[in-house]
Amino acid sequence: MITRSRTIPLSAPDVGRLEQEYVLAALRSGWVAPSGPDLDLFEREVADRVGVPHAVAVNSGTAALHLALLGIGAGPGDVVIVPTLTFVASANAVVYTGATPVFVDCDPATGNLDVDLLAGLLAELDGEGASVRAVMAVDVYGSCADYDRILPCCDRWGVPVVEDAAEALGAKHHGRAAGSFGKAAALSFNGNKIMTTSGGGMLLTADDDLVHRARPLASQARLPVEHYEHADIGYNYRLSNVLAALGRAQLCRLDGMIERRRAVRERYAQAFAGVDGVRLLGEDPAANCWLTTIVVDPERSGWRARDLAVHLAVRGVETRPVFNPMHLQPVFTGARAALNGAAERLFHNGLTLPSGSALEEHEIRSVLHDITEFLDGRR
Ligand SMILES: *Cc1c(COP(=O)(O)O)cnc(C)c1O
Repeated sequence: MITRSRTIPLSAPDVGRLEQEYVLAALRSGWVAPSGPDLDLFEREVADRVGVPHAVAVNSGTAALHLALLGIGAGPGDVVIVPTLTFVASANAVVYTGATPVFVDCDPATGNLDVDLLAGLLAELDGEGASVRAVMAVDVYGSCADYDRILPCCDRWGVPVVEDAAEALGAKHHGRAAGSFGKAAALSFNGNKIMTTSGGGMLLTADDDLVHRARPLASQARLPVEHYEHADIGYNYRLSNVLAALGRAQLCRLDGMIERRRAVRERYAQAFAGVDGVRLLGEDPAANCWLTTIVVDPERSGWRARDLAVHLAVRGVETRPVFNPMHLQPVFTGARAALNGAAERLFHNGLTLPSGSALEEHEIRSVLHDITEFLDGRR
């Protein structure tokens, strides 16, 4: 067994020379506190990349989701439908507005929202006279949800869609970019995401009214007059110009970073090809390949995802389980949920492997070596 001094991380930030240049230039320009030209350019460049007219840079993806929901008018007494298989931030943003999240299960093949369940839930809630303010769709692990079906399904009930594209920048769905679906979308630039500003996010929308409501809320809802006037409760959600500079450098490198992640996924696909009872979660060629996840059927493989996780952990390789579904979280005990069992099965049988674009060749090789060793030991 090889012992390593360093853990091979799941998805580490991939920053280098270009990022250093951009951040230094921003510092030297004097635009440190906190607005500035990099911020405006970053918003413009991301909006252009995704193909939407409006972008508001904020200090987290969670803040972007919160503003999207506020922009739609979510508040106390409203219901917002949220996938149960997601990171907790999706549901937290709903709770921040005072609305109540109702969870919906996923398609076992992709991990994304199950549209048939969603349709049934919308009909049910309508029958009860509930005020369903929005449906949040999450592009899980960088693969777009099925908007071809989700958008008409929600249209039928007049319910807007908010796209949680935190994990999906660079992904596409039938040629359209992640972040461009629904009434508003949120991106995350957290340190582990496909590209990073250290911490940050962005609200995207084509809706003029929504952006006019949401943008001031990101900076304490200060009215554009000199004497500090506020007609709303706002938030301190703005991204700083220095971090926007980091984001601009990352955006230049986004396609290359996606290619690296795609190549990593390809290596895992080869390593597990022909291994009975193991598949990759989602086989969407237009995904950004943010994280590669295997799903293990222990009846067929003779081992559990957890066994491989332990084998890799003692060799210094970081893995993660699939998201623990929201309806199983202590904080959401008693929340309503439309379930089919898929999210729970993925939580038990899924394993996310090191997928970062900063992985070096010798690192990916040693992960593959450890996996082969594990599989050989089980034959
Ligand atoms: C990361 C993430 C968020 C939150 O983004 P932050 O920038 O960490 O606040 C929201 N939703 C999903 C699905 C995420 O993966």
